[in-house]
Amino acid sequence: MDAREVIACLRRNESPGAAALRWFAQGLADGTVSDAQAGAFAMAVCLRGLGEGERVALTEAMRDSGKRMDWDMPGPVLDKHSTGGVGDCVSLVLAPALAACGAYVPMISGRGLGHTGGTLDKMEAIPGLVTGVSEERFRAIVGEVGCAIVSASANLAPADKRLYAIRDVTATVESVDLITASILSKKLAAGLEGLVLDVKCGSGAFMKTPGEARALAEALVTTANGAGCATRAVISDMNEPLAPSLGNALEVAESMAVLCDGAGGRLRDLTVALGGMLLAQGGLVGDEEAGAAKVAAVLESGAAAEKFAQMVAMMGGPLRFAEDWRRFLPEATVIREVAAPKAGHVTAMDGEALGLAVVRLGGGRQVESDVVDPAVGLSEMVRLGAWVEAGAPLCRVHAAREGAAVEAEAVVLNAITIGAEAPELRALIHERIG
Ligand code: URA
Repeated sequence: MDAREVIACLRRNESPGAAALRWFAQGLADGTVSDAQAGAFAMAVCLRGLGEGERVALTEAMRDSGKRMDWDMPGPVLDKHSTGGVGDCVSLVLAPALAACGAYVPMISGRGLGHTGGTLDKMEAIPGLVTGVSEERFRAIVGEVGCAIVSASANLAPADKRLYAIRDVTATVESVDLITASILSKKLAAGLEGLVLDVKCGSGAFMKTPGEARALAEALVTTANGAGCATRAVISDMNEPLAPSLGNALEVAESMAVLCDGAGGRLRDLTVALGGMLLAQGGLVGDEEAGAAKVAAVLESGAAAEKFAQMVAMMGGPLRFAEDWRRFLPEATVIREVAAPKAGHVTAMDGEALGLAVVRLGGGRQVESDVVDPAVGLSEMVRLGAWVEAGAPLCRVHAAREGAAVEAEAVVLNAITIGAEAPELRALIHERIG
């Protein structure tokens, strides 16, 4: 096979065929394909697009470019993937809740990307906790607790690791085909039996419009099912942060409030809905309503909190975290309230700007080598549509220094629009696909 012929085929809008895509993915993993060829391939796919069959073939080829895990568990092996948003800490609540319902959740997660937070960074806000565990340890935690949230090992979908880095510097990230193959190659290599994709839509998401979100959700669902993994998707609202806090330790605290203190709100509601879909997919309940009720029950009983505490302890975090989590989480040195400049309704929230404010505070990375500050972020965020009086708090900034807090305050004031008319609010789940 010849990389030039694969690229030329795509350039001519012809199908190179599954065997050629498999060869190309293997070449990405073992270095036979050069960086220049990988860049040209990504650009050709970005400009010409792939048909459904080719998208499945590329996804399977990238999935098979490294190790594929398999599990022999007494319950279904399930997972959820979000396309990224702000204040989205569903994974921290959902994984232990599913485990408490009898499912097994080998959740291989990522770090913050752009303005969005990363599940691994949130987990690592818990002192001592290590997400980079060996495969043997990963299997032991999933087997014993029922869930583990870890980082990908080097040999999981290595073709994606290489292609993703090249896409990042060749302006070829924004391709539905390449995003689909990238996300799914890693998820499918984890050996799942059921998957739910949470495609975020709105100001705090990568997909800002319903059309963009639907195109990605449909591509993800058809491709994952085509590759043999039972998959559904929801398009969920990201026109305001999901939880009222953004930032790593602050989002762990939001998750613990749902797991331990019976907190309600959008974080809990979305967790219950996604969990219900997954339990139905895994055959643990008859339908998603019964699944949602089961997830709600393990949140209420404390069974999910117990699973979370067991997972934290097995990953190197404090013992009995669920009993005393407030004592363990780091706190920022400067905490400053942001006051509404005038009275009115919160008519719009720029979620991307709020997410970037957290990154600038040190809660995410501006360059790869940045060390994340787990304590910083925004909390007690006002809700979209809420009425505020002049001077009332819009949120609290948690910063390492006074100057950083002042800077973040200015960003928040710019990101939150206050007007006379209450905005039309979208439902938490816009649409279900598949
Ligand atoms: N996340 C991924 O893993 N890959 C993409 O291409 C985009 C988001």
